[in-house]
Amino acid sequence: MLKNELIVVHGGDIASMTREALAAARIETLIPSGAHIALKPNLIVAKPASSGATTHPEIVGAIIEYLREHGFERISIMEGSWVGDSTSRAFIVAGYAELSKRLGVPLIDLQQDSWKRYDAGGGLKIAVCDQAMAADFIINLPVVKGHCQTTVTCALKNLKGCMPDDEKSRFHELGLHEPIARLNRVLKPGFILADAICGDLDFEEGGNPVSMNRLVAGLDPVLLDAYACRIMGHDSEEVAYIGLAQRYGVGSADLTSAKIIELGDKEAAPNLSACSGRVRALAARIEERSACSACYAALVHGLARMEERGLLKRLDGALDGMRAPRVAIGRGFRGQKYEGVGCGVCARGASDWVKGCPPDGASVAAFLEKVARG
Ligand code: SF4
Repeated sequence: MLKNELIVVHGGDIASMTREALAAARIETLIPSGAHIALKPNLIVAKPASSGATTHPEIVGAIIEYLREHGFERISIMEGSWVGDSTSRAFIVAGYAELSKRLGVPLIDLQQDSWKRYDAGGGLKIAVCDQAMAADFIINLPVVKGHCQTTVTCALKNLKGCMPDDEKSRFHELGLHEPIARLNRVLKPGFILADAICGDLDFEEGGNPVSMNRLVAGLDPVLLDAYACRIMGHDSEEVAYIGLAQRYGVGSADLTSAKIIELGDKEAAPNLSACSGRVRALAARIEERSACSACYAALVHGLARMEERGLLKRLDGALDGMRAPRVAIGRGFRGQKYEGVGCGVCARGASDWVKGCPPDGASVAAFLEKVARG
């Protein structure tokens, strides 16, 4: 695959979606023969992936099987959880200890590793764990989710787990954005497969998962993070480390020049039973009839952006003034008139609607803001 490409796989079967992404990217052609491959999930806390915080182990298991089928045997899983949680506990709670045992792949706890400092440019030296630096090919497996300090977290920030705990703390003192951008000049994964199955709405430690049912593969972490922003309803310019990483030559945030290849079952249904109280409260404004998960997630993200911008009450007022006071979404609205607003082409029978199939969170947020402001 090329650096300006992103492969988005929709669906409900995580293992087969993973295989589809790897095959479409032809990952086996990217990895040198005999390479030691390090799989770097996001296990920031000891929580299962259903919380929206951590990478689904089904992704990692499917990658290991795929790589073995293509002759790669030197594979390990490495991670260092955030300061205050234990990686070894996270390996157990998130299902990686069981995976490691079943597939015979070692787990490396980077919180226990030795480290060295590397020149990251701009006078900054960054401490990185030795086993991460020793890997020949890193596969970065971040979660697409919100973050209370940096707004969004995905590929660029996931590499923080490859540093010792003291360095993670120092990154906060340094304001996060600058050192995160520069860390990506030191550590350069060869492939990224982002878990956008049910990443959290706005916190990296999970608790409010939003069912998105997607995986996103790419080579450029800057492009992938810009795409993550878009699907979550943000402008990548809101996330300073993305622009900084672009300036430091890590990659390009230009989605207009990107080739986005969409595969899989776009009509996979969202898992609404897993919604938290916060997501359910936002979704009280939604009239859903057989919506696809990507579409539904864009609407939930759009509503969350309204809340952050202090526009939710105004939006509620505008919706209450309509004959149909909730936002229509889903295939069940095809060919139906709706005297209110809608989300996605299926709701084109609404009085006003946001284009796209699915629309992204940024378009939905812009549309809802227009509705709120009258
Ligand atoms: S517009 Fe309709 S078909 Fe397209 S993603 Fe939304 S619900 Fe699915």
